[in-house]
Amino acid sequence: MEFSFTEEQLLLQKTLRQYAKSELLPNYHRWDRGEKFPREKILEMGQLGLLGLRVPERYGGQDASFVTCGIASEEISRGDFNYGLFIQLSCIPAELLRAKASPEVQAEWLPRLASGDAVIAFALTEPAVGSDAANLATRAVKQGDEYVITGEKASVTFGGYADACIVFARTGESGAGGVSAFLVPLDRPGITRTVYRSPGERLSARGSLFFDGARIPARFRLGEEREGFTGAMVSFDFNRAFIALSAVGAALQSLEETVEYTKTRQAFGRPLAKFEGVSFQVAEHLTLVEGARLIAYKCLWFKDQGLPHTKESAMSKWLGPKAAVEAIHACLILHGHYGYNQESPLEQRMRDVIGLEIGDGTPEIMKGIVAREVYGREFMSYR
Ligand SMILES: Cc1cc2nc3c(=O)[nH]c(=O)nc-3n(C[C@H](O)[C@H](O)[C@H](O)COP(=O)(O)OP(=O)(O)OC[C@H]3O[C@@H](n4cnc5c(N)ncnc54)[C@H](O)[C@@H]3O)c2cc1C
Repeated sequence: MEFSFTEEQLLLQKTLRQYAKSELLPNYHRWDRGEKFPREKILEMGQLGLLGLRVPERYGGQDASFVTCGIASEEISRGDFNYGLFIQLSCIPAELLRAKASPEVQAEWLPRLASGDAVIAFALTEPAVGSDAANLATRAVKQGDEYVITGEKASVTFGGYADACIVFARTGESGAGGVSAFLVPLDRPGITRTVYRSPGERLSARGSLFFDGARIPARFRLGEEREGFTGAMVSFDFNRAFIALSAVGAALQSLEETVEYTKTRQAFGRPLAKFEGVSFQVAEHLTLVEGARLIAYKCLWFKDQGLPHTKESAMSKWLGPKAAVEAIHACLILHGHYGYNQESPLEQRMRDVIGLEIGDGTPEIMKGIVAREVYGREFMSYR
């Protein structure tokens, strides 16, 4: 069993940790307090190679392994958890486009995705369906060499400013088998948006997209009709480990800050760290977060080897954000009144990470997947 990263991965880890500390962490609160997230920052991420990790080299990307993408997610999220969303939402469209798009669509959109010129969102959820996404109602009707899309997509990360979106819509019968996927440029007539007032992840401008008879060329369909839902599920299987590692990055940063703080803050004539009631909390949370981290990397390693990883993906998705939120909560309390203050990053980290306890699948649904993998489908109360 081999637990080390390659030389290249170690260098990336070191470089990104430094970048997160010096460039992202000092600005973390800015995009939370109403300051608009500038487009130049997305281009900067593109220049750093963070948006083309899963884009093929011929389209300006790195074609990096999934473990490498996980390292990027963890390290970047130490500085700003929300930057991890850009890694997730560049890897998902990259995978779907490289596997399912026509060569012309790939040549047009993959370089734009890798450079940060185009932000591509992912729209599966609707007002009436989230966990039960296979029952989505948005329709795509073929008319000549176009599709006409009608419906509302809800809770779309980057909904407020994405340039395009992978939209899942019904082209056939009810259930998962009738769902197709499309790349939809969001500047088409018939598309409008709203942005939610979110407790956290405000940088991501999560919102609804409304399609009112929006027309797109048929060549923007991804793969065959009715195979869209499978593509969504394949994306979830690696993205859930990225989410876990983003949460882990935010938690490890918080724990490191807490170790430093409790070494210097005095109470009852000694540093807080000398009280086992304090240091044991740090020890416990570090242990739990490291457990979540290992499952997530194991999942990505399986993905890189072409091995099944659905169970590990679901395990890491419920455990990672939960362990992280609990660790950050403890860190906040261990900072006393300084922690319960907007000058400290801890309260924002908690709000930010909680969002991804829900996004991409709730803990209940993740445990259902683990149980399904263990017991078999015949023991599920729903499909
Ligand atoms: C921060 C954030 C970002 C998001 N980004 C995106 C995005 O980019 N694109 C996108 O398409 N969607 C996105 N979502 C939506 C997200 O994927 C859904 O919110 C999620 O899948 C849950 O669906 P729901 O909100 O409709 O909850 P529901 O499905 O209504 O569930 C409500 C509650 O019931 C529980 N529940 C449901 N079914 C069962 C069951 N069978 N057994 C036990 N408990 C159950 C759930 O676990 C949950 O606690 C995002 C959400 C958040 C919060």
